[in-house]
Amino acid sequence: MFRIEPVSINGFRNEDRNLISHYVAKMNEVYKEREEEIKKQILAYNFTQTNETNEEIYKKYISGSERGSISDGIWQLKVNAYWKRFSSAVAYTNVGSDEININMAKYNLKNEMSFIETLNHEYTHLAGLTHTFKYVSGREHSAPYAIGKILSKIYSDYWEMKESGEYVPEEPTPNKPVIVYRKSIFGQLKSIFLKFVRIFGT
Ligand SMILES: [Zn+2]
Repeated sequence: MFRIEPVSINGFRNEDRNLISHYVAKMNEVYKEREEEIKKQILAYNFTQTNETNEEIYKKYISGSERGSISDGIWQLKVNAYWKRFSSAVAYTNVGSDEININMAKYNLKNEMSFIETLNHEYTHLAGLTHTFKYVSGREHSAPYAIGKILSKIYSDYWEMKESGEYVPEEPTPNKPVIVYRKSIFGQLKSIFLKFVRIFGT
């Protein structure tokens, strides 16, 4: 199963680093609990700016192959903070590097959904998915933009539901193991008592 393993979280204030660790843990729960939903949505999306099939895009996403590293199914997260106020970029990756750089002059990590979206967008670049550098109509449906949106939506839906106590497992297992409930001590004593009643009663 695809998951994130934080390798380095550099240059952030302590509270921001803690927030990122917390979000990563929440992301991993989403990957575990919403694996099928993520797959379904990526396979169904009408991506622009690509010649790849949805299966190929999905495979790249869950490859954990950052910049051509081994496909181990693990996103080895390396994230750095930088500060650049006069810039339109909120984050970037460099060709030849498997690190994600976040512009903390433009970012409030309390905006959780937006951070999840950005992080996923940047990771798709590391996994080999691209979009045009300049804006052209439809770019928002390219794999990096769309997957960022898909993941942040599934993430926020999952956590909203879970925190409101309406957690629903992804799908019921068809062959559920039979759970044998052990009787409580009281239940056991009651059965013994009833047995006696049956034997000695009228
Ligand atoms: Zn991008």
